[in-house]
Amino acid sequence: MAYTLPLSFPVFDGNESLYIQQAINSGHLATYGEFINKFENKLARLTKSHQAVALNSGTSALHLALLLLGVGPGDEVICQSFTFCASANPIVYLGGNPIFVDSEEETWNMSPELLEDAVLSRIALGKKPKAIIVVHLFGMPAKMREILEIAEKYSIPLLEDAAEAVGSTYRDTNCGTFGKIGIFSFNGNKIITTGGGGALISNDVSVLEKAKYLSSQAREELPYYQHLEIGYNYRMNNLAASIGLAQLEKLNGWVSKRRLINERYRILFEDFPGIKFQPELEGSNSNYWLTTILIEEKETGFSNDKLRIMLFKKGIESRFLWKPLHLQPVYHGVPFYGGKIAEKLFLKGLCLPSSVNLTFDDQRIIAEIIEKELSKIS
Ligand SMILES: *Cc1c(COP(=O)(O)O)cnc(C)c1O
Repeated sequence: MAYTLPLSFPVFDGNESLYIQQAINSGHLATYGEFINKFENKLARLTKSHQAVALNSGTSALHLALLLLGVGPGDEVICQSFTFCASANPIVYLGGNPIFVDSEEETWNMSPELLEDAVLSRIALGKKPKAIIVVHLFGMPAKMREILEIAEKYSIPLLEDAAEAVGSTYRDTNCGTFGKIGIFSFNGNKIITTGGGGALISNDVSVLEKAKYLSSQAREELPYYQHLEIGYNYRMNNLAASIGLAQLEKLNGWVSKRRLINERYRILFEDFPGIKFQPELEGSNSNYWLTTILIEEKETGFSNDKLRIMLFKKGIESRFLWKPLHLQPVYHGVPFYGGKIAEKLFLKGLCLPSSVNLTFDDQRIIAEIIEKELSKIS
């Protein structure tokens, strides 16, 4: 159904039409063209990374990143459990084995303590993890200082799944630039969209060059097609990049807008018992791609699913938080380090409409629906 207030609706009110037309006029719609370079340069500048490689999805960026970190058949990779399946699936594409780690309560991302437990336990079993995948969920920066410390202490490369965190910062440094490799997604409802798209960033020039090469079918620079390696068709196309460039021109303003939306929800829900927001660490600046809340049914009298249905009936889209990967049937039996934090977040959480064009009045309507329901319990 078409929602009157969707979760995250893309906005194209900048140079999108102009750039798309220019891309069409240039005749370059495939994986060659000026917008790809412009998009990569702008993304690297905005995120203060050395360079970016534009790809056709965040998932392909994760796949290439793991390949470049040397993950192969039988290797173990530690991954945050509380995330979208695309964070871990590429481990399996490469024949590797995921190891899941629970979240902490202060950012909802990977717990550094449990990460260290997992690393030590795997090393004791004779299987040193090949990589660690940390996720900045809903745009919220993870506890990067502690996680980086562990990655360095045990010399395990860190891969940052910043798919949802384009424009988020932690201690004035952009999410995606802490790890050996970082990735972004520009899928349809992310903060920046190219229809479908992604990018890989790194400060290691050899990693970037290899990513470019492997994403373009591992084609040698020769007048004929010669291949020394198996490559992939993972490059972003020029048409998508033309949309992406126009979207990136809006990024800073959109981060401010989504932060404002989050702030307004916090003000509107201030006196509501039993409703809590995803916490933000001091020094962190989430892009608040999605505003997310937890509902304590004992205090509210309604569950997250009940609220979801109430909102749905009014044409307002809301959504469960990601179901943790250690609870996914497809990952049944995968080792998991932790307790019930991610599970609790899943059972109580809800993502609220967070589109940049959401007005204060729209948000008031949502608050009124909740307030009315809250007034039923005395
Ligand atoms: C969206 C997303 C991805 C995958 O990106 P696609 O561009 O859809 O392939 C990976 N990880 C997380 C956390 C995401 O939200």
